[in-house]
Amino acid sequence: MALLSRPQRMPLVVAILATITGCSGTSRCWNPLRQSAAPHCTSTLPPSLALRVSPQPLPPITEPVVPPRPLTTVEKLKAAGPKWSTIGESVEERPIEATAIGTGPRRILFIGGIHGDEPEGLPVMEWFTEEMWNDASLTSGTTVVVVKNLNPDGTAGKTRGNKHGVDLNRNFPAKNWESTVKTPRFNPGPHPESEPETRVAVQLIREFEPHRILVMHATVGRPMNNYDGPAKALARRMSQFNKYAVTETIGYPTPGSLGNWAGNDLQIPIITLEFPRKVSPDRAWETNKIALRQMLAEGEDDEAQ
Ligand SMILES: [Zn+2]
Repeated sequence: MALLSRPQRMPLVVAILATITGCSGTSRCWNPLRQSAAPHCTSTLPPSLALRVSPQPLPPITEPVVPPRPLTTVEKLKAAGPKWSTIGESVEERPIEATAIGTGPRRILFIGGIHGDEPEGLPVMEWFTEEMWNDASLTSGTTVVVVKNLNPDGTAGKTRGNKHGVDLNRNFPAKNWESTVKTPRFNPGPHPESEPETRVAVQLIREFEPHRILVMHATVGRPMNNYDGPAKALARRMSQFNKYAVTETIGYPTPGSLGNWAGNDLQIPIITLEFPRKVSPDRAWETNKIALRQMLAEGEDDEAQ
């Protein structure tokens, strides 16, 4: 007995008990004196055979099937390579296109346009994207996501807002979002994120968690590197190259703007780049191509407040 391991001993113990009591623990039993089954027993097998009765086979142990995690938007963009991919749709079901460039840990987001009647930034954003596609050194250590145009319906209709007439740049879930429609141009929508275009941007920013954001606009006033959140130093570096003013405000409140939500609430440094209205694409590019690289370059950022 002592030489037997515990699992080996178990059948022997059960056999002895069955011999003494006439029954096994499963009521399959054999009386060795009468060489017959005990009256109350249901089995007529002798214990040596009863013990050999195979138990019902257990179902095979299978690992729980864990469905593969769906790819994030940015992972899909990375897999797509140097081309524009659709990440969402506008009210009129126009594609909202984006691309991801580079694989580094620093994350930078560019948005080529958000107001449909300010198309000046769109060709600049496309040319800068082509430059980043063609020169990997520009995005060394960095992952860049570019949204070509967040408001394709507005661009098609040459309107500031989207097809619902909502100013997307008043429709973000900022703490200071207001429901008041001061003028139709600044219609904030019925509630924050009411518009599909806004939701595309919000979801992308929450998923990508960029370290810096730049969004392109145009103004009839003075061109500027307007900043929200801890982005003053970045705006100043850009200003060295494009010579645009560095401003913390564009001169009037912008409740529910992308700058207020991402910059002031989330403390992501964000530049609202205001080109001069009706500037030619060539001139806008020549003025800003080096300034835009400052978004990618290592450089001291302001402390988050
Ligand atoms: Zn604008």
